[in-house]
Amino acid sequence: MHTAVESWDVVIVGGGQAAAETAFSLRQQGFPGQVLLISDESVLPYQRPPLSKQYLRGEVELDVLQLRSVHSYEQANIAVMLNTRVEQLRPAAKEVVLQDGRLVRYGKLVLATGGRARQLGVPGMHLQGVEVLRTVADVQAIRSRWSPGRSLVIVGGGYVGLEVAAAAVASGLKVTLLEQESRVLGRVTAPVISSFYQALHARHGVALVTGAQVDALIPADNGLEVRGVRLLDARTFPADQVIVGVGLVANVELAQLAGLATNNGIEVDESCRTADPDIYAAGDCANFPCGFFQRRMRLESVPNANEHARCIAANLCGTPRKLDAMPWFWSDQYGLKLQMAGLSSGHEHLVLRGDPEQGHFSAFYLLGSSVIGADCIARPADFIQARRLIMGRVSVSAEALADEAIALRSLV
Ligand SMILES: Cc1cc2nc3c(=O)[nH]c(=O)nc-3n(C[C@H](O)[C@H](O)[C@H](O)COP(=O)(O)OP(=O)(O)OC[C@H]3O[C@@H](n4cnc5c(N)ncnc54)[C@H](O)[C@@H]3O)c2cc1C
Repeated sequence: MHTAVESWDVVIVGGGQAAAETAFSLRQQGFPGQVLLISDESVLPYQRPPLSKQYLRGEVELDVLQLRSVHSYEQANIAVMLNTRVEQLRPAAKEVVLQDGRLVRYGKLVLATGGRARQLGVPGMHLQGVEVLRTVADVQAIRSRWSPGRSLVIVGGGYVGLEVAAAAVASGLKVTLLEQESRVLGRVTAPVISSFYQALHARHGVALVTGAQVDALIPADNGLEVRGVRLLDARTFPADQVIVGVGLVANVELAQLAGLATNNGIEVDESCRTADPDIYAAGDCANFPCGFFQRRMRLESVPNANEHARCIAANLCGTPRKLDAMPWFWSDQYGLKLQMAGLSSGHEHLVLRGDPEQGHFSAFYLLGSSVIGADCIARPADFIQARRLIMGRVSVSAEALADEAIALRSLV
């Protein structure tokens, strides 16, 4: 039995970057109506990047991660329901059903449901000491088991896995990182970047194993806790804790059950709108046509969540806007910043500027004579110019890009 409770002009489902940014962008862009944000988390929206960086290293407190204070929500007149899960969408009635059966009616609905950590489909995932990293609660569980000398096995050599390895080494843990491909970061960067990071981690004492396919997580004698990891080739690695960082599964089920199209994310158009004109989707859960690269994609990054949120807010404020931003991202490991602009996929040539041996260099990905992506390691100035080169679709010569005697600025 459902009872209608309230009606709101805009209801935002989600409690992450995309949800908070949509709510505040609406106000910044002058939206006068009622706005409600519904999150199943117990805390106000916070930044996730520090979860595998400063917060995991114990350098900052939770309140620093919060995107906006309670006071900001009050001031902006944004209503928030925490600890509340939206169980169902009813597009025909323009209602959402909450976990306790209450109904909330909307004028426009924004799905900012993000994603959840992918699990490993192997025996032993339920054992104590096996963790994933997506929420503040995950970090608290992880850190409660950290003490110098303990053995940590990380499964997955993507950004999260590598950042966790760097933080764990700094906390004195013995770290083994298992990657199933032949190199870390294989999906997103060129081999030269993978080699650089593999060498960096090895220098800091991380035992890195590539080509490692996990077969099972091994229980301790008590059957409750994890004791190790076994690979398909029968090798085993002892572990007091296992952190699984093998990617994200987009939370598309609400949309799917409501009959909205999903395909690696909730499908939206260039305004972030689904096929239902009253429902939008933003951030990690959205599959969108990237105007800049002229193809559909789903991205997992803060700048992407913000871009979607601002685009939706503009459209709801009656100032139609299309997505046109260039993707970018960053990662921090051992105090070294990697900044990425554009996309490397589909590149024809790779040009290096600087020498990896020096600990700082940039890799430019070219399609024809245009730079479509760049990875800049400890080179913030290169990153600024790389963004300009990519955004301007500037034609450049590979020789000039590689020549450090020529200022990048002069090529833009
Ligand atoms: C450890 C880590 C490190 C990262 N590092 C970087 C980085 O360095 N740089 C970068 O750019 N990006 C980084 N990212 C990615 C970035 O944080 C995400 O892309 C961004 O937070 C996505 O925001 P979102 O709002 O789309 O999704 P999410 O942050 O996943 O938020 C979704 C929210 O919706 C809630 N929700 C889901 N379903 C429901 C429901 N049915 N009812 C109510 N609430 C619901 C969830 O609980 C959650 O609060 C990192 C992510 C992680 C996990």
